[in-house]
Amino acid sequence: MAKNITSLALALCLTMPMLGCVSTTEPRYVIDSDTYQATGKSERIKFIILHYTVGDNEKSLKQLTTGNVSAHYLILNDDDNKIYNLVPESERAWHAGNGGFAGRTILNDTSIGIEIVNDGIKPEYRKALKAGVQDYHPYEHYVDFEEVQIKKIAQLVQGLALRYKISPKDIIGHSDMAPSRKIDPGAKFPWQRLHTQYGIGAWYDEEDKQLFMKQDEFDTATIPEIKQEFRKYGYRINDSDDWDKASRDVIYAFQLHFSPQHLTATMDLETYAILKALNKKYAGEDNFY
Ligand SMILES: [Zn+2]
Repeated sequence: MAKNITSLALALCLTMPMLGCVSTTEPRYVIDSDTYQATGKSERIKFIILHYTVGDNEKSLKQLTTGNVSAHYLILNDDDNKIYNLVPESERAWHAGNGGFAGRTILNDTSIGIEIVNDGIKPEYRKALKAGVQDYHPYEHYVDFEEVQIKKIAQLVQGLALRYKISPKDIIGHSDMAPSRKIDPGAKFPWQRLHTQYGIGAWYDEEDKQLFMKQDEFDTATIPEIKQEFRKYGYRINDSDDWDKASRDVIYAFQLHFSPQHLTATMDLETYAILKALNKKYAGEDNFY
């Protein structure tokens, strides 16, 4: 009978919300968070994703605060002491879109997004992009970041990585998770410097790279074997038996991150050696528990 009255009250609530839904006859229960605690738990945030905005401070601010794209943090290029937090870390920002990394998709759910004010490709080289053809721009086509931005990023990412216990290899660029759609944060983003100077993100050891710089080994590696190395590190890549456009997009994204002055978008010995060196150092080191 009590159940029927509750159902009736609920039905009335749903059909006539103006009646209000607080019943004076129902007991009020309290949530007790102190008496018992579980040990099996972890952070929801597993990735930090870096972007550039393609625009100046004003345009970037407008887009990220009034439109349907957003990021948790915005790094302007003002030489001041500000890092702007636009979305609370406990909420989703809309920055990642379709794609994936390290076996995970829907990365808006599990990442902190950081947008950096930067023009991306220099205006005189943008034509190919405007035509809807994603070109493989060389290093020189990208716009430099300001020194103050690097310092702001270093401090912000250091703190986030520590707080959420994020694996170095899961601090990635937008291009790493969406290689056929995105090229940001671009070739001028200083991944190597952030690693060596601030201990941020992943980078290969030079001696490991030299270990894998063996032409005969590279020559005998099949395309499916090399694609498997990309997957092992975290990249999503198709299983076609050739280096089609989508596969080359992955090579280019990888080079943007780990070999930015050597942007061939083709598989070669050096790219292969860096990929193998990274897998030797980091394979399986995603902190996904
Ligand atoms: Zn982006």
